[in-house]
This record gives sequence, structure tokens and C-alpha cells, in this order.
Amino acid sequence: MISIRLFTAALLLSFWIAPALQAAEVNVYSARKEVLIRPLLNAFTAQTGIVVNLVSAKADALLQRLEREGVNSPADVLLTTDAGRLARAKQKGLLQAIRSAVLDAAIPARYRDPEGTWYGLSIRARPIIYATDRVTASELSTYQALAGPLWKDRVCVRSSNNIYNQSMLAAFIHHIGAERTEDWARGLVANFARKPQGGDTDQIRAVAAGECDIALANTYYLARLTVSSKAADRAVAAKVAIFWPDQDGAGVHVNISGAGVTRAAGNLKEAIALLEFLAGQEAQRNYAEVVHEYPVRGDVAWSDVVSTWGPFKSDEINLGILGENNAEAMRIFDRAGWR
Ligand code: FE
Repeated sequence: MISIRLFTAALLLSFWIAPALQAAEVNVYSARKEVLIRPLLNAFTAQTGIVVNLVSAKADALLQRLEREGVNSPADVLLTTDAGRLARAKQKGLLQAIRSAVLDAAIPARYRDPEGTWYGLSIRARPIIYATDRVTASELSTYQALAGPLWKDRVCVRSSNNIYNQSMLAAFIHHIGAERTEDWARGLVANFARKPQGGDTDQIRAVAAGECDIALANTYYLARLTVSSKAADRAVAAKVAIFWPDQDGAGVHVNISGAGVTRAAGNLKEAIALLEFLAGQEAQRNYAEVVHEYPVRGDVAWSDVVSTWGPFKSDEINLGILGENNAEAMRIFDRAGWR
């Protein structure tokens, strides 16, 4: 009799305390490779006890999904690449402004939205990558110069559909104006070795294969080839080198991967905690070592392969400008015939 009473009491008690014991959660929509981001999220759960529910998909598909779901979206955090894309999410009203002294201290102002809707969590540069047997560094100087006659039929770059190029052009519009940017785009198109095809890695491969002599590509793609377990990839990396353009001018075009808290976020506290964790030293070391991006924090070392490329001057504009100039960039690509 006593045991039944005890059991009943225990049962009632368990119902009563169950909500309090239910694990805190945060729902993440991520456009980053799951194998790269999973270890980070697991470390966050180990440290905080907050369970992370991860939905991985392509960046533009995630934006469309967030838009479709609206205020009913289960997502608390959007984790994606490119400031241009994060700005697009902001413009569509999919993100909310948050305030965090931790994030403001960890992330330089130019790598986050002034209104606090998105925050850069890793930096990637988009320099010139050249064939070391056919190009000497002394022939290279600026992005602008790539539109000159020296580079006729020698340039590989991916399609203008890709946000990386849109954001690069958006930065140029800021620095030299729409008109000169359009002239540059026309000149570069005239120097294309082939119609734009494939991603950044394909441009680097094409340089190594002799299809073109220079490419514009993000740094981590070259790092991946350099440390690849496949000998063929390492052979590609061995045939090319990085040139940091515009060192006497605006600096190398850089962009970010980053995150924002969704407008629909039901787990606001947990979402902010996740962003703060991702901007912390441990997570930043992971971005550096595993993804071969540049940490946003100045107190975290670059990976060995990234360090071999040496320091460079990077463009210091606030990356929110990439979003502001995106529409203009698209019009210029169109007029310049950069498909
Ligand atoms: Fe990429």
C-alpha cells in the first residue's frame, strides 16, 4: 500500500517537474557543410546542455523556406555564407536585431550588421589565384588591371549567379562607382578564357590544367586542395599561388560566413547563446583549423596552410554595403554579359 502511494507520488512529482527538466533547445537552419558544423554544435551542447536541432540545406533554399514559413518557422538561427545573403535575409524581414556585449566585443564592427541582425563568424578572402609557371607576381597588381589586354583569354571565374561574385562587384561599386565597375566587368568578360562554369574549386583546377592562367576564388577552396588526402588535388594546389591584389588601394575583397537570429525565434536566449559560442575562442579555432577560414577574432591563430599565404591588407568596408549594392551589381553583370 505504501509503495503504491509512493509510486503515485513519484509519478505526480515527475509530471510536475518534467517541464523544468526538459532540455533547452535551439533550432538551426544551416547552409554550412554538416560535417564541418556538427562538431561545433556538439561542443556547444556539451558546454551548455542546450540541444541543437539542425536542418542543413542549400543557402538559397533555406532563405525561401524561412520566407515561406514566416512567423511559424521553427528556426531560431540562420547559419549561412556571404554578407550579401545575410543582408537579403534582413531585407526580407527574416531576422531580428539582437544585442550582445559578447558578440560586439568578439566581432569587429565591419563584420556585423550595425543593427545587430547578422554577425560574421568567419572570414574568407577572394584574391587572385595564378598559374606559377605562366604568370609572375610582378605582372599582377589590382582587380582592375585584370580587365586589361595582358589577360585576354586568360581569366577563369564562376557565373554571376553566384553571390560571391555579386558581393565582390558590390564592393567595387562602393569604391569606384557603378560606371567604372561596369567598365571593369565588360573588360573582364572580354578576357574570359571560357564561359563561366562550375564553382570556385573548378576555376582553380582550370588554372592548374592550363585552361586559363588566373582565377578569382575564395581562399578556403585552395586550402582544401592543399591539404586534400587525394594526390591529384594536392598536385593542383602545387601549380598555383595566391596574389593579394589592391594592397596599395582598398585591399583584398573579403566576405564572411555568419549567422542571425530569426524573427520567428521561439528560443531567443538559446539562439543568442549559440551565436556567442560560435564567436568564442574554441569555435573560432575550429573555423580556422577545420574550415581554413580566417577567424573573426584577432586572438585566434590561422591554420598552418592559411599562414603560409602570409598577411595581407583586406577591404575594410562594412559588409552590409554588399547587400545594399547587390541589385546594382546584378544589373551590371547583366549589361556586361557576365552570365
Ligand atoms: Fe564557398
